[in-house]
Amino acid sequence: MAEELNPFKIAQHQLEEAAGIMKLDRQALDILKEPKRTLIMNIPVKMSNGKTQTFTAFRVRYNDALGPAKGGIRFHPQESVDTVKALSAWMTWKCSLAEIPFGGGKGGVICDTKKMNDKDLEALSRAYARAVFKDIGPDVDIPAPDVYTTPQIMAWIMDEYANMVGHNEFGVITGKPVEIWGSEGRMDSTALGGMFVMREAAKMLKLNPKKATIAVQGFGNAGKFAYTLSKKVLGSKVVAISDSEGGVYDPTGLDLDKLEEAKQKTGSVQGYKSKTARKITNEELLELKVDILIPAAIENQVKEDNADRINCKLLLELANGPVTPEATNILFERKILDLPDFLVNSGGVIGSYFEWVQNRTGYYWETERFDAELDKKITTSFKETMAMQKAYADKGEKINPRMAAYIIAIDRVAKAMKVRGWY
Ligand code: GLU
Repeated sequence: MAEELNPFKIAQHQLEEAAGIMKLDRQALDILKEPKRTLIMNIPVKMSNGKTQTFTAFRVRYNDALGPAKGGIRFHPQESVDTVKALSAWMTWKCSLAEIPFGGGKGGVICDTKKMNDKDLEALSRAYARAVFKDIGPDVDIPAPDVYTTPQIMAWIMDEYANMVGHNEFGVITGKPVEIWGSEGRMDSTALGGMFVMREAAKMLKLNPKKATIAVQGFGNAGKFAYTLSKKVLGSKVVAISDSEGGVYDPTGLDLDKLEEAKQKTGSVQGYKSKTARKITNEELLELKVDILIPAAIENQVKEDNADRINCKLLLELANGPVTPEATNILFERKILDLPDFLVNSGGVIGSYFEWVQNRTGYYWETERFDAELDKKITTSFKETMAMQKAYADKGEKINPRMAAYIIAIDRVAKAMKVRGWY
């Protein structure tokens, strides 16, 4: 991996840049530059073909000054310790910015779920749970879904954890199916939170969401729901969408049923059929002339070499880490409003917080309450971020929204570490 695209180097670079702007105490920066602990495991799993396969897996606890570590588990062929470290750092900032009582963590397994059947997936999930059970827990570190992990996988992990500790412990993991006390509303809360941010940003930019055109990169946990919710909640038109194979563009708007059908029949949204639609690559999707661009897949999609060709007014980072630091600066100079991942996609972990609260109190909410509280929280984060940017502008210092959000998030963690006596 090129050094400038190493996600952990990027996360450290962003932290140092923000620390410089806010004049963070050097001792606090030294603590925050590296994870508190990093687990690297090799897990043998007996597969359904009778052979044992060994998987490399990770769980990183980045910082827990504000509460138990919180963050998803990714099952991805390109997973690496540096990706997980970066994602755990971003979780720290995400939870802090959202003002929920968690630190940051992340997990991952190097594997290709597309080549695994359900039996093998269950065996791997349970083996992962056994490998980390002493290091997770509702007051310690609370996993959740991420790229290529699902509510079903959360259920297996929760069940295996219960076997290990000898009692049910629903709050050990979030993003569970509702049958075992997952939360109503959690399933699409990453995208719904993103839509609330989109609504606020559109207001600020005087963009009418009903007339806005949108391109979404990704058709997974975040991307697919970004499609459905932008139509349902804001009445916007999604004209392009993609998956890992490539994308489809239809200036007259895309139809969800047909997208699902294409995905089922051909394995990709590229199989979408309509007179006005054409196939595009993921690179082309990013450069389409649209009002709003939503990268909702993986890291490093908008980089130094394509940031000049991004052609939208608002870029909503629904994925983790889709825009590199160089690209952030180029977009800022080009006056494209690029809202950072750990603000835009925080609806997922805010939803997880609501699920954890319900698991711990044993009292369950209705979707209306979940959505309303999510709206309140994420809208507050958006307003605080914009206010921080303005406060610096008023002092004559131009900072981008990512740095504004970082300053808020780092300040809260640093204050917690200080008062706890860590420095
Ligand atoms: N994987 C999601 C994220 O990156 C959700 C994490 C969580 O709910 O803990 O924000």
